[in-house]
Amino acid sequence: MQQVFAGPALPGSLANDPDREAGRPSMTCAAIVLAAGAGRRADPGETGAAKQFRNLAGRSVLARALDPFLDHPEIGPVQVVLRRGTQAAYARAVAPHPRLLAPIIGGERRQDSVRIALDSLVGAAPDLVLIHDAARPFASGALISRVVEALASHRAVVPGLAVGDTLKRIAASGHVAETVPRDGLYAVQTPQGFAYREILAAHRRAAATALTFTDDAAVAEWNGLSVALVDGEARNRKLTTPEDFQLAERLFRTETRIGSGFDVHRFGPGDHVMLCGVRIPHSYGLLGHSDADVGLHALTDALLGSIASGDIGSHFPPTDPQWRGADSADFLRRARDLTAEIGGRLVNVDVTLICEAPRVSPHREAMRARLADILELDVARVAVKGTTSERLGFTGRGEGIAAQAVVTVALPAMEADDEIE
Ligand code: MG
Repeated sequence: MQQVFAGPALPGSLANDPDREAGRPSMTCAAIVLAAGAGRRADPGETGAAKQFRNLAGRSVLARALDPFLDHPEIGPVQVVLRRGTQAAYARAVAPHPRLLAPIIGGERRQDSVRIALDSLVGAAPDLVLIHDAARPFASGALISRVVEALASHRAVVPGLAVGDTLKRIAASGHVAETVPRDGLYAVQTPQGFAYREILAAHRRAAATALTFTDDAAVAEWNGLSVALVDGEARNRKLTTPEDFQLAERLFRTETRIGSGFDVHRFGPGDHVMLCGVRIPHSYGLLGHSDADVGLHALTDALLGSIASGDIGSHFPPTDPQWRGADSADFLRRARDLTAEIGGRLVNVDVTLICEAPRVSPHREAMRARLADILELDVARVAVKGTTSERLGFTGRGEGIAAQAVVTVALPAMEADDEIE
């Protein structure tokens, strides 16, 4: 395998793809989600339900495994593969979605199911395909981005993590036969990504043999494709045992956090102000070490407050010359990333700008759109309001602008002794 240093790609980072900005058509990417396994080890003899249909904090494992694909802007059609006889369980487990194709029935072995799904996509003819196991409901949008991004320069990509535990080979006697050097050993995960035509050809060729492969990268390797590695995610674990389910239950339970932020900047000489990431012509500017975007500062502080992670000054000290003239959108992106890193999901944001001038309402929609873009949040979850202070106080005298912000974030509800990773 070839190591790719794809970097800490985050959801939406593909939005910066130069090809997209230049208006060139981007690659089409389909996803196959395998839900054809019997998977009863996680539920020994209890309900007999295959694990992909089991309920996990209110929704099925399969529905949760599909979420990051159905939510991802780079993923087109999503094809689920089922075991015969589970269509009714599927209908109960998964809500319809415009990008979700009608499920198909897989084959005997995992690789048969993948080949059948790849064949079913011949008409759609995607450039790329991601193949994912339904028993992994924790894959993030960032991981999907990382795999898709690496497919711009590789024909086969797997996410993997360096093996941390010491490995022993155990003899039939139950005793340790040897310690296996772990240098260069990686545990690989799904989604694995491929150039569609290449993996289709590899699977079709494998189907003509008696060979059995444990993952799709192995089929690709066998057919001569070089497989690149990107960073996997510790939390992207495969649910196998009853203990895995107990932990997963806790990970999907969320609690709501609220954060508030407040900021003020003084007017000074200038011909425009930056407010919520939008440049507004004005007879004054706002003074500040960065671009003095009072709205973005209040919002960044609110978001940092919701995850109890210091304040804007502790992350971006005004004494640090690197933030001179900084684009405050970078501050907000950092707070957004910190939230995502601990499994947080932004629910809504609400910003109030307090000034006599400039007027906010003509710019409200542009500000909402800009905040939604920076936060990678639906614009329906973003509010921007303007108010005056009735000519009272410093805002009333036109000495500066104040802003306050409130955010809500859904965070995994963790017991103090739970471990995420
Ligand atoms: Mg400030």
